Formats: sequence, C-alpha cells, structure tokens
Amino acid sequence: MRLCSRCVTADTYPGIVLDRDGVCSHCREFESIQRSWEETRQSKLDRFERLVAWAKKQGRRYDALVPLSGGKDSTYVLYLATKKYNLKVLCYTFDNGFQSDIARQNLAEAVRRSGADQILIRPNPSETRELYKHFLRYTGLFCPVCMRGIYAGTFAVTQQFHIPLVLNGTSARTEERVGPEFFQDGRYSFFRSVLKAHQFPRNLGIFDYDRSLLHKIKRGLFVLSNGRIRLGLAEVQVPDFLDWNYTAIYRLITTEMGWRALPDRDEHGDCDAEPVANYLRRFRVPELTRNMLRHSAEIRAGQRDRCSALQEMENERRQGGGVPAELESFLTHLGLTPEEFRSQTADPFRHMQFQGTELLRRLLNTIR
Ligand SMILES: [Zn+2]
Repeated sequence: MRLCSRCVTADTYPGIVLDRDGVCSHCREFESIQRSWEETRQSKLDRFERLVAWAKKQGRRYDALVPLSGGKDSTYVLYLATKKYNLKVLCYTFDNGFQSDIARQNLAEAVRRSGADQILIRPNPSETRELYKHFLRYTGLFCPVCMRGIYAGTFAVTQQFHIPLVLNGTSARTEERVGPEFFQDGRYSFFRSVLKAHQFPRNLGIFDYDRSLLHKIKRGLFVLSNGRIRLGLAEVQVPDFLDWNYTAIYRLITTEMGWRALPDRDEHGDCDAEPVANYLRRFRVPELTRNMLRHSAEIRAGQRDRCSALQEMENERRQGGGVPAELESFLTHLGLTPEEFRSQTADPFRHMQFQGTELLRRLLNTIR
C-alpha cells in the first residue's frame, strides 16, 4: 500500500490512481476544481448575492429553504442565510431515527437564535426501521434510506411553500471524497430500482415522494444554464459559491448559533449511525482509518498539514480500526443479530448493481 504524497489517501482505495509524482487522482481533480475556484471566486460571490436579491424579490412567504441536520455545514448555512443575508428562512429537518442528543440540542439552539421557522419530518420509527433493514438486506447499505428522506422532504416542503431558493451545505469542494463503491445518495432512481427488484411490503410514506416533473424541469434548466434560467426555483450548494474555512466556521457557529461539537468527532456528529457506516467502509478497505478521507479533504483545502494527519492516523490505527461502540446499539435499534449484519454486508459492492452507469448517474443527478 502507498499513500498519496500530497494527501493521505491510500492507493488501495477504489478509484484511486497515483501518478508519476505519487499524487492521487482525488488531489488532481481537486486541483482543477480549486484552480477554477480561485479564478472565479469573486464572480461566484457576486452570483450568490444576485441569487439572494432575486429570492427576496419573489415576495414569497419564505425566501429560502435550508435543509438543517444540526451538523456544522448546515448550521453555518443557516447562519449565513439569516444573520448575514437577512433572508426569511424555513428550515427542514429530517429525523432519521439516529439523531444524536447533541444534534437535537444544536438544532434547537440554532433555530432559536436564527429566528427561522422549522419543519420537522419524523417518519414512523418502526416502519423506517423496516426500510433500513430492507436496504441492508438487499444492498448492504442503509444511508440511502435516510438521504432519500432528506431529499423527499426538501422537495415536498419547497413545493408546498413555493420557496424560490434552496441552500444546501454540502459540496464536492468541501466534503471528503467517498466513491460510488461506498456511498449512494438518496436519489429516486436508485431507491426505485432497489424496490422494483425487491418489493417493500409496507407503506413508504414520505420516502416515496419525488418532485413533480415541472419541478424537475425547472431544476434541470437552472443547473444546465449555470444558474441563468430561474423559473421560480434555484437550488445551490452554498460552498460552491462562498469561502468555506472551517476555523472561521467553527468559531462563528459556536459563538453565534450555540453549536457544540461531539468531544471525539465533528464529522457527522449529528448521526449516531455514522460510526457504523464509517466502519462498513473500513472493513471493505482495511487500510482506511476512521478519518483518512476527511484528513485528505482538509489537507487539500489547506486546513491541515500532512504531518499531523499522518500522526493522527497512526493514533487511529493504534486504537484499532475495530468495531465501533455504536454498532451494538445500532443493531439493537434495528433488531438485527451481528451474524445477520455480517452476512448482509459481506459483499461490499452489492448496491452497485442498482446504481446504473456513470453517465446515467451524472444525467440523473442533473434532472433529479
Ligand atoms: Zn491525494
């Protein structure tokens, strides 16, 4: 195994190739994203501010929807939307059944301080458990269920209140890179193709909600025209437009939004099942440490030096990449035995048969 000479990603990670200089493909891709970011930084900011002004001019009940998980990025987006840009905001929160206590506190505090309204969707816990189990059984993954709930609720609330602007906190520029071998988001095409092959015998509720065709067309035109065509709907990943410096972000959300990190992790501290999802990746690629991909993302973004990342990874290895403490409560919550869990997740790439080709994935991402 070799590590990238720039970040700390191992070459055994699926899709990673090291070039002649020992630099990995993720770093090279980031380099080109970043180069165009530096060149277009000011124009991106201008574009974002034009979108904000446009949203206000629509004169709707709410100017913007912020999907709010209680994590650092969405909390920062809420801060920007309400305190910096004075937008009338409706937050949408999806309770996936694994919300951590600290996420609940962070959410309540952020909403209170922002002055925004909040809509919470909490699908029936026992039905949702069955759906998680269904996806684990047939795909080996459970995150797509939660992500489907987040997407579906975002669409439903945006349509219901005719909200012109949707502000997301996720972006390829700032997130750790997790390939399709490990990760599947909540897009409807994947969800449907799993359920077509393996029928779910219960009510799907919100999970089966998709946006209307008109809404899809509006979003597709917005994306394809690079934001120039706005037929009453603009959806953006805020980090694609604004600086995203975590030192400043932590400071702001702590002081202004009352946000607190978990003592031992700040990535996805909003979800109690995240350590299990992370563990699944690690037993698929044993060289992965708990935070290898996040360290790499931070190094690329200039927010961590490689030496300290290597040191932390050494600690992570010493602590053992083993079974996380959270696995037991996860299995109890779902009513699964460790043996069932092991056999359902033994084939690491089972979900990929439902993903379609890369080209199809990109196309569906545009019109989703
Ligand atoms: Zn790299």
